[in-house]
Amino acid sequence: MTYTGKKVAVIGLAVNNTPLIRFLVEQGAEVTVLDRKTRDELREYLDRLTGLPVTYRLGPDYLEYLPGHEVVFLSPGVPRGLPALQEAATSGAVFSSELRVFLAENRRRSRSPVLGVTGSSGKTTTTTLLGMMLEKEKPVKVGGNIGRPPLSFLPELTPETWVILELSSFQLQDLGYSPRIAVLLNITPNHLDVHSSFAEYVQAKEEIIKNQSSDDIAIFNWDNPVTRRLAATARGKVYFFSRCTSRCTQPETGAFLKNGDIILKLDGKREEYICPAAERRLPGEHNLENILAAALAARLAGASPAAIAGAIREFKGVEHRLEFLRELDGVAYYNDSKATTPEETIAGLRALSAPVVLIAGGYDKKLPFTELAKVAAERCRVVILMGATAEKIREALEKEEGRDRLLSGIYQAATLEEAVAIARSKAGSGETVLLSPACASYDMFRNFEERGRRFKELVFSMQPLEKRE
Ligand code: ADP
Repeated sequence: MTYTGKKVAVIGLAVNNTPLIRFLVEQGAEVTVLDRKTRDELREYLDRLTGLPVTYRLGPDYLEYLPGHEVVFLSPGVPRGLPALQEAATSGAVFSSELRVFLAENRRRSRSPVLGVTGSSGKTTTTTLLGMMLEKEKPVKVGGNIGRPPLSFLPELTPETWVILELSSFQLQDLGYSPRIAVLLNITPNHLDVHSSFAEYVQAKEEIIKNQSSDDIAIFNWDNPVTRRLAATARGKVYFFSRCTSRCTQPETGAFLKNGDIILKLDGKREEYICPAAERRLPGEHNLENILAAALAARLAGASPAAIAGAIREFKGVEHRLEFLRELDGVAYYNDSKATTPEETIAGLRALSAPVVLIAGGYDKKLPFTELAKVAAERCRVVILMGATAEKIREALEKEEGRDRLLSGIYQAATLEEAVAIARSKAGSGETVLLSPACASYDMFRNFEERGRRFKELVFSMQPLEKRE
């Protein structure tokens, strides 16, 4: 599409859109940025665009200025159902996104092969690890939902560069494009506050394989029923990864475990040894899934087994994902602020062996807490609740009452500071304090990073108890 002289609206300035706005201006578009936030709230981003001929419509009535635009760029997470967007669609506006522009430009100019990673959980961890595996031997650029807009590295791409993109359901929705190698980690309910149904969420994720050709490659989680089912609809060559250790239930082709070793079988016959699974530093069975997926994708993109094994041994994980902070008075402290769904908190609880003092609760994404309550009742001695979902989680935990369980205390905290103080006073030697909210952070913080950083400050400012004489 050419943008010269076109009236283009970009909805949402924060997150990832500065490179997009720059690109559109360079292409000769008449750009208007619409954002619900005020000038003061957006200062950081506005400063980056100083001097560009862009019109801003900021504040609560931002969408009133949408009519009359021919192309509308939506930031990830803007609900499609907003009446103003529906009206724009009816009056003929074309919808697009930064990712779409990047993919079209890449196809036209650099023709770099693209490897896309999606899933409900584990995207950032897997994408980062994949980048480490490949960059040892090839030029690589990592971007997308991970926080780096791919348009920012477009000029540096060549046909030899592998572009690794973390793709969220919002970015995939109606994308109309699928990568050369697609990785589908898992699908569990998420973002049901924005997607109109679980079916719509699954459909968005499916976009990662929908437009593949028979030369492309699709990698699925054998152990996750939804992704295993979707494999039947793939047009490209299908591979699986599985952390299941029973041979009879393992897939024929892909990545799996054999006698504790990570093994790849790309042709369904010859086994390739990578390294013992025990040499990884990432904790938890869920991370084994991420490692198997990354190893398989990296090998299919041409990485050597040695480079793959090297990255598995080196990678300690990404900040705010089950991040070990310190041990104090015999208590271990972990920051898992990025656990924003019940499944992610469950994965964290299962990864830790000690009894847990859990701090949970936050912004309501309309996800069920029944399963979390079951696991928390078994693995937590204390749960401290905060934020908008505190009551919902308490109700779910109380339904578990009467069963044989470890949980003996549920507390409520008005702030994270208070939650940490309660956790410290309740946790005994040999136990673990875990911030793993199972919810997004927007009710109390700007984002999960701010929540995690505050937790870390609080934990690192604690002094050891005085030793008794
Ligand atoms: P995403 O980018 O999909 O949000 P992250 O790698 O940032 O995933 O991890 C987010 C949270 O999910 C962390 O709490 C992490 O411990 C947990 N997690 C990571 N991988 C998995 C997985 N495969 N299954 C369940 N939970 C996971």
